[in-house]
Amino acid sequence: MRILVTGGAGFIGSHLCERLLNEGHDVLCLDNFFTGAKENIIHLMDNRRFELIRHDIIQPILLEADRIYNLACPASPIHYQYNPVKTTKTSIMGAINMLGLAKRVRARILQASTSEVYGDPKVSPQREGYWGNVNCIGLRSCYDDGKRVAETLMMDYHRQNKVDIRLVRIFNTYGPRMALNDGRVVSNFVVQALKGDDITVYGDGSQTRSFCYVSDLVEGMIRMMNQDDFIGPVNLGNPDEYTILEFAKMIKKFTGAESKIAFKPLPQDDPMQRRPDITLAKEKLDWKPKVSLDEGLSKTVEYFKSRLKKDS
Ligand code: NAD
Ligand code: UDP
Repeated sequence: MRILVTGGAGFIGSHLCERLLNEGHDVLCLDNFFTGAKENIIHLMDNRRFELIRHDIIQPILLEADRIYNLACPASPIHYQYNPVKTTKTSIMGAINMLGLAKRVRARILQASTSEVYGDPKVSPQREGYWGNVNCIGLRSCYDDGKRVAETLMMDYHRQNKVDIRLVRIFNTYGPRMALNDGRVVSNFVVQALKGDDITVYGDGSQTRSFCYVSDLVEGMIRMMNQDDFIGPVNLGNPDEYTILEFAKMIKKFTGAESKIAFKPLPQDDPMQRRPDITLAKEKLDWKPKVSLDEGLSKTVEYFKSRLKKDS
């Protein structure tokens, strides 16, 4: 198949492109390089089945593809809040453009949605039937509500135009190829620990997150795309939940760092708890994460060590 991956030069997108090429598909990787990087996909450039397209998905594009994975959108709070109007445009106009393309060429399209559609959830763990608690005038809304509208568009194109859609709600995912300056908790803590800098815990660190290794996530996304009788939404994430303070201590121990833990102000609307209920993914996709936090972290730490070495 010919498969379009928007945001293909980003962290998750690059792993997805690699996996799809390994399965024998032709891959069109589309990216505007806002948070993605050529280094993430440089090793794929020699593959004759790989094509790179520099394009911004807020503009329409004419292409032919059998399947579309729509991942283009900055995912780290510091990056999506850098130009919030652009973030909203990327989610909404990007979804409209990709859905229009899917409709024209009759491609199946999978939208990378997020646990952020649940906002600061009042129930835990979060299951797909929960409608969420998002502050629509807050700093995170450009991302959260952008993704919520993208889900609305997916469902309406499906109901109105019979577009073949799939919806996955991704929970915090980590692994090699996260950007050094990404600003998310895993990359921040690992890089700070490796440099011996203070580990910056926002708030008192009692907020929780659950961390999924990238290869597990990619497996779930591919299983969902290949499902014929289930469109989602489905949660994809690891249900093992940690407080951020616990996680900071784990990283310190894991890396053997001398770093101190420094408490910084909690960003506005930072969700207090996040943990996926993955019953539906287990039932419909026979999917659950396989990579333990220890194994995933050791691969991630090795990656950041070699990145820091290269940059020094
Ligand atoms: P990332 O920032 O590494 O990747 C996003 C990619 O999209 C980058 O390559 C970026 O350059 C590209 N992009 C951004 N705006 C674009 C535009 N207007 N046109 C074309 N390309 C554009 O982030 P990621 O962690 O790889 O996330 C990928 C997708 O998964 C995103 O849609 C994100 O919302 C979703 N997601 C990720 C996580 C996570 O924990 N990593 C959690 C939930 C959802
Ligand atoms: N966080 C932190 N220190 C950092 C970066 C993040 O304490 O250097 C916290 C952040 O406040 C949030 C959690 O870690 O509670 C996860 O943040 P991230 O930006 O990775 O993703 P989010 O789940 O908030 O979108």
